[in-house]
Amino acid sequence: MDATNLEVARIFNEIADLLEIKQESTFRVNAYRRAARAVESLSEDLRTIAQRGELRRIGGIGQSLAEKIEEYLRTGAIAYHEELRAAMPRGLAELMTIPEVGPKTALLLYERLGVSSVAALEEAARAGKVRQLPRMGAKTEQNILAGIARMRAQSARQPLGAVLPHAQAIAGALRGISGVEALSIAGSIRRMRDTIADIDIVVATRRSDAVMDAFVALPQAETVLSKGSTRSSIVLRHVGVQCDLRAVEPDSYGAALQYFTGSKDHNVQLRERAVRLGLRVSEYGVFRVRTDRRLAGRTEEDVYEALGLQWIPPEIREAQGELELAERRALPALVRVGDIRGDLHVHTTWSDGAHTAEAMARAARQRGYEYLCITDHSRSLKFAGGVTIEDLRAHARAVRHLSDRLGIRVLLGSEVDILPDGSLDYPDEVLESLDLVIGSIHSRFRMPRAELTRRVIRAMESPHLDILGHPTGRLVGQREPLDLDIDAVVEAARRTETVLEINASPERLDLKDTHVRLARDSGALFSIGTDAHRTEHFAYIDYGVGTARRGWVEATQVVNAWPLARLLDFLAR
Ligand SMILES: [Zn+2]
Ligand SMILES: [Zn+2]
Repeated sequence: MDATNLEVARIFNEIADLLEIKQESTFRVNAYRRAARAVESLSEDLRTIAQRGELRRIGGIGQSLAEKIEEYLRTGAIAYHEELRAAMPRGLAELMTIPEVGPKTALLLYERLGVSSVAALEEAARAGKVRQLPRMGAKTEQNILAGIARMRAQSARQPLGAVLPHAQAIAGALRGISGVEALSIAGSIRRMRDTIADIDIVVATRRSDAVMDAFVALPQAETVLSKGSTRSSIVLRHVGVQCDLRAVEPDSYGAALQYFTGSKDHNVQLRERAVRLGLRVSEYGVFRVRTDRRLAGRTEEDVYEALGLQWIPPEIREAQGELELAERRALPALVRVGDIRGDLHVHTTWSDGAHTAEAMARAARQRGYEYLCITDHSRSLKFAGGVTIEDLRAHARAVRHLSDRLGIRVLLGSEVDILPDGSLDYPDEVLESLDLVIGSIHSRFRMPRAELTRRVIRAMESPHLDILGHPTGRLVGQREPLDLDIDAVVEAARRTETVLEINASPERLDLKDTHVRLARDSGALFSIGTDAHRTEHFAYIDYGVGTARRGWVEATQVVNAWPLARLLDFLAR
């Protein structure tokens, strides 16, 4: 049975429940119940029937219900249903946010136990009061508690950097299980979104029961929310994030991976395209509607190819014009981690870094980098060990020495504070002596928009400023971008040839994806800098490159993907 049919039937039943609670006419209530039964008993997929234009020929489905089904197929929801839910008394509406609690159960809980909040319901369930209600039982009570746990896990999006390492650890553990033929993280992590609601993993296997047994037994699992042969869910210890594992036959692996990677909007566009081509795409594959013949499903490449498209990198599957370009085989060649030749934003023990310049240089060489630039803080940033002018001269000598000795070119730069008036924190002759200057705002963030924008643009107009560091000052999940006129900053970057940083520190990811895209479209140049304060932080480059890719950036637009000679030419201009 197709998942769409079941979901539409569930929604119709719930509309009937909601109408009943509102004491609407029995006639309308029954119409929805009858429609739900009719949809449930179909042997064919609603989507297929809709494509033939025959929804209205299903017994019990009139004009208005057919339109609701069409709305669901188009948007994945039915507005009337959402309105009814929203119109319930507040306590009931809150209870119904738990997936296991439908309108009838909510009403029962409300009337019999006086429960009108999720917290109260949790307390009642823990006290064993829910199982004593009619039509309830210990199993339902358990399901409700699991539903509350799942909802809590989903409610807060967490920064990508807080979740990705756990997702990778779980993926690594699952790869070792016998019977796993292929495996990938899917969902918004695969798309490198800056915040994450849950972890989705897809495996190809012919032994899904054994794989699921191993999954729910992982030491990382704090709670097992559900276990089945195609899907299981756990909540992770410590991070509290839900992790869903989906097991599919190897033949459907590409289609499932594509489907569960999203984004939702991208997949809607893909389905619409399929319909125009007389095809149907689902998590099982791409099918020709007329013959129901399966055309693709084993790999993602096949799935896109069957739809007449070039494979689309996950980071740009956001319904932002990628399908049109994929059709013309004209997608940008997005920058890859392997394109990066050096890191231009690095701190050491000369300011607030944990490791010496030598240790950082060795670690950079270890990564295969051609160059790195040491950019400790400037003199005003006293709490972060800002470097005095005298010390800077000594550092220049030390850095030359390191280059000679280690076989990696070490440049000396500085992360110079942009002072409140837009001037830079060292005099011109000092700035001139440096290989590279990053200008960053670290204090006096809260200024009126026009003043802050003038401050940043004035700094960019300095002939010494090469890179604008973490341009908007945002912190993922903690601080919104500063109130800057981003269009004006991007325009100034183009005019003054100032490089915009994509700060790769997972706390920052600044510029963020949408700003990167804006800047990229206007022809700006970027530097992907890790802002490393320890050798381990060089690995943050993955987050920066992911953010750059989400902004459609190509390697040619990234100055630290350029060979050293070209970079030096650019800096000397
Ligand atoms: Zn900084
Ligand atoms: Zn920094």
